[in-house]
Amino acid sequence: MLNRPQLFAAMQRRIEEAVATDRFLGVLMLRTQRVREFSLLFGYQAGERAAEAMHAAIVAAVRAEDEVHWIGESDFAVLLPGLRNHEQAVLAAAKLVRVLQVPLDAGDAPEMLASVAVGAAICPRDGAQPELLCRLADSACDVAAASGDRFALYRAPEVPTAFAHVELREAIVGNRLQLFLQPIVDLRSGRADGAEALSRWDHAGSGAIAPDTFVHVAEQTGLIGELTRWNINAALRHASGLHGDGIPLRISINLSVHVLQQHSFLEHVRDIARLWKVPAEAIVLEVTESGLMQDLQHCEQMLRRLRDHGFGIAIDDFGTGYSSMAYLKRLPATELKIDRSFVVDMHEDARTQKLVGSMIDVSHHLGMSVVAEGVENQAALDRLRTMGCDHAQGYHLGRPMPAGDLVAGFKQQPR
Ligand code: C2E
Ligand code: CA
Ligand code: CA
Repeated sequence: MLNRPQLFAAMQRRIEEAVATDRFLGVLMLRTQRVREFSLLFGYQAGERAAEAMHAAIVAAVRAEDEVHWIGESDFAVLLPGLRNHEQAVLAAAKLVRVLQVPLDAGDAPEMLASVAVGAAICPRDGAQPELLCRLADSACDVAAASGDRFALYRAPEVPTAFAHVELREAIVGNRLQLFLQPIVDLRSGRADGAEALSRWDHAGSGAIAPDTFVHVAEQTGLIGELTRWNINAALRHASGLHGDGIPLRISINLSVHVLQQHSFLEHVRDIARLWKVPAEAIVLEVTESGLMQDLQHCEQMLRRLRDHGFGIAIDDFGTGYSSMAYLKRLPATELKIDRSFVVDMHEDARTQKLVGSMIDVSHHLGMSVVAEGVENQAALDRLRTMGCDHAQGYHLGRPMPAGDLVAGFKQQPR
């Protein structure tokens, strides 16, 4: 690889910046096939001219703050700093594939039609070392080259999944997961009146495994139904004592779309609610915006049935997916959860603040209440309150904690 030290030094700076600003850094590897054959036919100079044309096309396609590094004859690394979500890296990769699908000027030789493949890795999701990120983006590039799309985001290999699957099943069945609850505060009264149920898996050998990881494993291996039932049962068991004492804590449950696709889900959740004597009105089912988009029609029907039975419905991580007004109007949701990436940025960016304000207004117009996620300081909290936001959740108000601790805290609170 040419210029490896320069590339790695540039990456190191961007990685530190991403960590400090709580944004993502996208790393794209763009590799080209057929340039060598082209050079053999028409001369090295023609190949070089074509590579120069590629470089210019890439620079023109990316944002001013992105960095394009020439790392091989006709291979490039592109750094995308300041990303708000992973999809932005995918969109950039797709765009590069698209703009390079045109014949490239090669001087006196005929125009060259290159065949590019773009792989992407994301810092910090996939790692935070330059070399590792390059390798992962490169391996995504191999996947991209074999796919029709010609671009691919790095995905952790499925092999350990098969292994984790057995252990995850045992952990669920053996009741060895833990339930954490994170308080949700009513901004009018200043008191917590709800909590989000978050699962934790402390793996015997590997330590704590991030929920995003094991939820993904559960989704891929058909365990998600069992995980969800475990989570609902544990959460309602804890809420049950409070309800019995006249403290009507609302409980928010995360649902993967896979679960919504299961026909019997409604019966399951109703049975568990009956068992623990928690009314449906005190249970909020959260579905992510991007999840809903996978199967909007079916989700809409299923959510309507759940809504008809009294359950609250929240659109989770709002703003990171499609954010279309058309579907927002269609869905029978009772609340909207603004993704933490917006809330975290609010104080330093007037436009983000305006965006949050509009999300609040739109939700209210549609009769939904609003929960802001990721409230990490008092300034954000004050701002949200003046903007008319209904509820807030975040480290500043309370971190996720073992469910028993939150319940004990509630019991001690003067009412
Ligand atoms: P989520 O639904 O967006 O849950 C909120 C996540 O934000 C939690 O991460 C929480 O710890 C984190 N968080 C809360 N306040 C703050 C803050 O002020 N700043 C920052 N930076 N982060 C904050 P966690 O617990 O790691 O969960 C990650 C995701 O895993 C959740 O995202 C949820 O979608 C999923 N998940 C967790 N448990 C379950 C489960 O039992 N079933 C399903 N289907 N999904 C689950
Ligand atoms: Ca959630
Ligand atoms: Ca969320």
